[in-house]
Order: sequence, then structure tokens, then C-alpha cells
Amino acid sequence: MTAPCFLILGAGHAGTAAASAMRAAGFAGRIVMIGDDPHLPYERPPLSKEALRGADGAAPPIYPANFYADRAIELKLGQGATAIDPGAQVVTLADGERIGFDKLLIATGARARRYPLLDALGEAAHVLRSADDARRLRAELVPGRRLLVVGGGVIGLEVAATASALGLSVEVIERAPRLLARGAPEPLADLLAQAHRDHDVVLHCGVELADALRDGGKVRLTCAKGGDFTGDLVVYGIGVTLNDELAAAAGLAMDDGILVDAQGRTSHPAIYAAGDIARQDHAFICGMVRQETWANALHQGGLAGRAMVTGQTGAQEVPWYWTDQFGVNYQVAGRTSARHWITRRGEDGRPRLIFGLEDGVLTGAVGIDAGADMRAARRMIEQGLRPDPAVLADPSVAVRKIGHAAHMV
Ligand code: FAD
Ligand code: NDP
Repeated sequence: MTAPCFLILGAGHAGTAAASAMRAAGFAGRIVMIGDDPHLPYERPPLSKEALRGADGAAPPIYPANFYADRAIELKLGQGATAIDPGAQVVTLADGERIGFDKLLIATGARARRYPLLDALGEAAHVLRSADDARRLRAELVPGRRLLVVGGGVIGLEVAATASALGLSVEVIERAPRLLARGAPEPLADLLAQAHRDHDVVLHCGVELADALRDGGKVRLTCAKGGDFTGDLVVYGIGVTLNDELAAAAGLAMDDGILVDAQGRTSHPAIYAAGDIARQDHAFICGMVRQETWANALHQGGLAGRAMVTGQTGAQEVPWYWTDQFGVNYQVAGRTSARHWITRRGEDGRPRLIFGLEDGVLTGAVGIDAGADMRAARRMIEQGLRPDPAVLADPSVAVRKIGHAAHMV
């Protein structure tokens, strides 16, 4: 009898976490991981941060090469899968090779959403998703140049902060009325806007572009309501497009992402999905959500890998992510939808933690250089506590002690 084969499509954070979890859970069959990116699987978050400050734009690998060899995880890198046959349980690769699977994990993530208006600028316009994107962009971030950033989301702001620190002059052009409108609470967006202004980054919100052209060595972006911006290069981050075409063609149930159950299983019993591409019912968000975060890719990928081996359902985590800008670490946990936010200030009088309450229940938190306190805040969110707002704001009560019954309302 041949050994069972678990196939993983996508060699990113969710895929590697799943492969590692499969072996840790005792799976002794074949594990094959297929990735269209030619590089050994690498950390994506540094691409907009440390990698752009480094000499060559390189990001560290998730695991060293021997990690895969030691666990007999077969890597097929540099060519993508082109079809999934759910009936025959076969995946076809770009070179025509067909690989049968007993179980399949789809962890194909997302790619940068394209903006044809800006792509028409050719090599003067950059997106940032892959290591090769970061290398190309790094070479263009020359001190003294003028960078136009389109999109005031996480990519746009992280690139703006990094480029400004490298000595470029930077302008950010955002279509929505405020920065980070999609995934960050307003108080955090306000803090980040101030941090950017403090570093001479010029912010323009509520601006839609109408035209983009190259003018000699410069680029010129024209606004729909008149006026224009001139720079040497453009980086845009306007969200993502899911790499979900194979899943859709295979007939899996989808709704802005592949729908999965608590184990990460799709509408096909032998096919699982995890990471940016998966939409799952989430206990802490209360509804079907797709998360585009590093922590989710690792956690969900790990749980799906384990479930594929053991059939067991693992516990969900309170969602969280971080962003690093101008040397400051900002973390966001839980829901971002609270209308009532309570600020706790540090000794320097600056906001250190911001807590979100919905009907008295702690549902969200933001930390500014406050990693340890954010771990405590995540635990409180997980427990659904109702802390006294006055205690939340009081820096004399340690955050890890707020959870005591005496501090509840
Ligand atoms: P991905 O990492 O996108 O991996 C999917 C892989 O599958 C890719 O390599 C893709 O090329 C491959 N693939 C796609 N289609 C196929 C196919 N047909 N065949 C084979 N392979 C295929 N999150 C945070 O929480 N904090 C951060 O600070 C942060 N910073 C970020 C900075 C940048 C520049 C970017 C782009 C993202 C950042 N993120 C951050 C988000 C985080 O990196 C993603 O949520 C995470 O990478 C998702 O992991 P994934 O495995 O689901 O998908
Ligand atoms: P986001 O969805 O975070 O932000 C995109 C922003 O661009 C939105 O505010 C959007 O506004 C705006 N936008 C869209 N179209 C236009 C336009 N035509 N002109 C001007 N602004 C526009 O996506 P990003 O591209 O920033 O990030 C991509 C991915 O990378 C995400 O998955 C993200 O999670 C991940 N990432 C995460 C990081 C982190 O967690 N620290 C860091 C970097 C990336 P509107 O809502 O109006 O469309």
C-alpha cells in the first residue's frame, strides 16, 4: 500500500504552519508543499519594514532549509498549481505533473490588488506582496527622492514610514475620508496620522485619482476633483485579490474566500483551507470572517494541519495584528468596531493602551509599545470581561490585574 499523501497548495505562513503541525501530530505519510514563489518560504511582514531598510530588500526564511528535509516535507517551489480535480483528488502543476492527494490544504493567500491606472506608469509604479517586489522597491528608495504612496492602509503607511526614515519625502493619497478605514479603530488611525505628520509625511484623505502619467523622469497623478501630485515613483497598496481561482473552478463553496468549518474543512470533505484565503465562523468576532494577518495564518494553518491528521477541532484565538511605524510597535486585538474607546496613558502622558467596550464588554484593544500588556488584554477579551472603565484608564492598576473580580462592573 502506498503512503497517504497530504498536499499543501501555497508555501506561505499558513502552508508552512500546517506542514509543521502535520508532522508534530504524528502524520507519517507524504507531505508535499507546492509554491509558485521560487524562494524558500519567507516571512512576509518584514517586506514593508526591516527588508526595505536593509541593504538588499531580503526577508528571512520562515524556517531554514533543513527544517523541511529533517521532517521529510517535500517542497516544490517556483511553479504553481493550475487545477484541482476534486473528484479524482488530483492537483495539476504548471509543468503538467499530476499529484494525487488523500487530503489537500489550500493556503494560496492573496496578491496585491492591481490598479491599471497606476500600472500604466510601468516600472515607476510598485506594489508590495512578494520578496521580489521588496527587492525591486528597495533599489528605488533613494534618499532625496519624492515618493507618492497611494492607499492609506497598512501597506501604504508602513512603506511611507520606512521610506521617510530612509530620507525620501513622502505623500500619502487615500481615497477614504480617513486612514486605515478598513481594519483599524479610529483612535489608532488618529495616532498614526499624527506620527506621520510629525515625520513630515504629507497625508491627503478623501482623494480619488483620475489620471497618471510619466512626465520626463517624473510621475504625475491627477485628482478627480482637480490638482495633482508629482513624484519620482509610486507605491500603491489598495487591498488584495484572493488567489482563489482554482478553488472556485473546483466548485468549493465560496463567499469572498473559501468557506471552512471549525476544523478548516471546505465543502469537500478531503479539502481544507487556511490563512488569508479562508472564511470561518469566529467566536470572538461573532460571524464568518476572513482575516488577513500573520497570526491568523499561523494559527489557522496549524489547526487545519492538525485537524487533517487527528480530526480534532482546536481552539480559536482572539484575532490580533501589529504594525511597526517610525520605530513604534502598534498592536490591535479583538474587534475594531467599538464606539466607546478608553485611553490609558503612560508616564510620558502619551496613549499606551486604548480599550474598546461594547455594551460594557471589553471587545477590542490597541497597544502602543505595550506587547506584554496586550497579551493580558487579549486574555480579557477572550474571557468576555466587563471591566470598570475607570480602572481601564488608571495606569496605577497593572493591566494583568484588571481581570480580578474587584475591577469588574
Ligand atoms: P501568503 O503569505 O500570501 O502565502 C500564499 C502563498 O501561496 C504565496 O507564496 C503564493 O504565491 C502562493 N500561491 C498562490 N497561488 C498558488 C498556486 N496556484 N500554486 C502554488 N502556490 C500558490 N500581517 C500582520 O499581522 N502583521 C504585519 O506586520 C504584516 N505585515 C505585512 C507586510 C506585507 C508587505 C504584506 C504583503 C503582508 C503583511 N501582513 C502582516 C499580512 C500577512 O503577511 C499575511 O496575512 C500572511 O502572509 C497570510 O499568509 P497565507 O499563508 O495565508 O498567504
Ligand atoms: P488595506 O485593505 O489595508 O488598505 C487599502 C487602502 O487603500 C484602503 O484604505 C482603501 O480605501 C485604499 N484605496 C483603495 N483604492 C484606492 C484608490 N483608488 N485610491 C486611494 N486609496 C485607495 O490593504 P493594503 O494594500 O494596505 O494591505 C494589503 C494586505 O497586506 C492586507 O492583507 C494587509 O492585511 C496586509 N498587510 C498587513 C500589515 C499589517 O498587518 N501590519 C502590513 C502590511 C500589509 P477604501 O476602503 O476606500 O477602498
